[in-house]
Amino acid sequence: MTAGPDLDAPILVIYTGGTLGMVQGPQGLTPGHDIEARLHRALATLPPARQASLPAFEVLETERPIDSSSATPRDWQALAALVARHYRRHAGIVILHGTDTLAWTASSLAFQLQGIDRPVILTGAMRPLEAEGSDATANVADALRFAMTPRLKEVALCFAGQLLRGCRTRKWQTQDAAAFESPNLAPLGERVDDEVVLYPGRGLADHQRGAPRFELPDYAPLAAGGVVRLALWPGIEAWQVEAWLGDERVRGAVLEVWGGGNLPDDPALIGALARASGEGKLLAALSQCPRGAVAFGDYAAGQGLSDAGVLSAEDMTPEATFAKLVHLLAQPLEEHERRGRFLTPLVGER
Ligand code: ASP
Repeated sequence: MTAGPDLDAPILVIYTGGTLGMVQGPQGLTPGHDIEARLHRALATLPPARQASLPAFEVLETERPIDSSSATPRDWQALAALVARHYRRHAGIVILHGTDTLAWTASSLAFQLQGIDRPVILTGAMRPLEAEGSDATANVADALRFAMTPRLKEVALCFAGQLLRGCRTRKWQTQDAAAFESPNLAPLGERVDDEVVLYPGRGLADHQRGAPRFELPDYAPLAAGGVVRLALWPGIEAWQVEAWLGDERVRGAVLEVWGGGNLPDDPALIGALARASGEGKLLAALSQCPRGAVAFGDYAAGQGLSDAGVLSAEDMTPEATFAKLVHLLAQPLEEHERRGRFLTPLVGER
């Protein structure tokens, strides 16, 4: 048994880059530094009552803050390792991250930090901290408050007043401040006026939380193109699927199929998928529809997927499916264990 969090310990804020901390450079916005002083200046502009509701925090800046559009699974691994190294001394963690690949990082952290016993809250902003009308200060303030909520024991994303399960999120808007959705799961919490509220009964199941059993495998081999994402289009040919999946460096694939789980009635295409799964590649299918789940076999057109050994990702997001494939393929598991774990909800991702 590990001791639970010391509720008086400061929150740890980890700054990884993203628009929130960006400043104008000669070629446009780039990640800025000195985030601690900048955060304090921004939070000091909040009404006194909101300032008083914020916890004490310490700030850690990653070595090289980035635009998250350059993030790779190696960055996910480094970030999880950083949290694992520091979390014990903090009541909760807030991660400041770019919005473009925030949902991917959030999904990956959920798999790496399984069983976490305190809040890990990711946030970012659509406009930099110092920009007029920026959403950054409010997002950081909300994230800090959710990070001091001991009942929350999971990786979550706080954005525009909503708290969403990290591995259920998707970036949904390019400009709007309410940029994230959790298409297949209701929010875990929300800011209501000046209070942050957690909805009872929406947290992880008891066996999925509160007892850290982190899995921190080396993602480097997989980060070299080991998992691909392939969305079908009308007229897709078997040779095109072969071109992706036939390469021996590819060990897994996210397949985005039609509607409730259908693909073209093309034996050559199904053959290409069957060949790849026969070689031990982990293939998982989800729907191109943003809401709802796939269920193979409702239509004859979907039967080919299960015959080809493709796993159902049910209602998982593409981001969570990809991150889970990377996570499972990075571990020394037997193929049947990998397939079994893929189909098991590990952190409320399905
Ligand atoms: N390109 C930025 C990033 O993802 C966008 C943002 O943070 O909103 O780092």
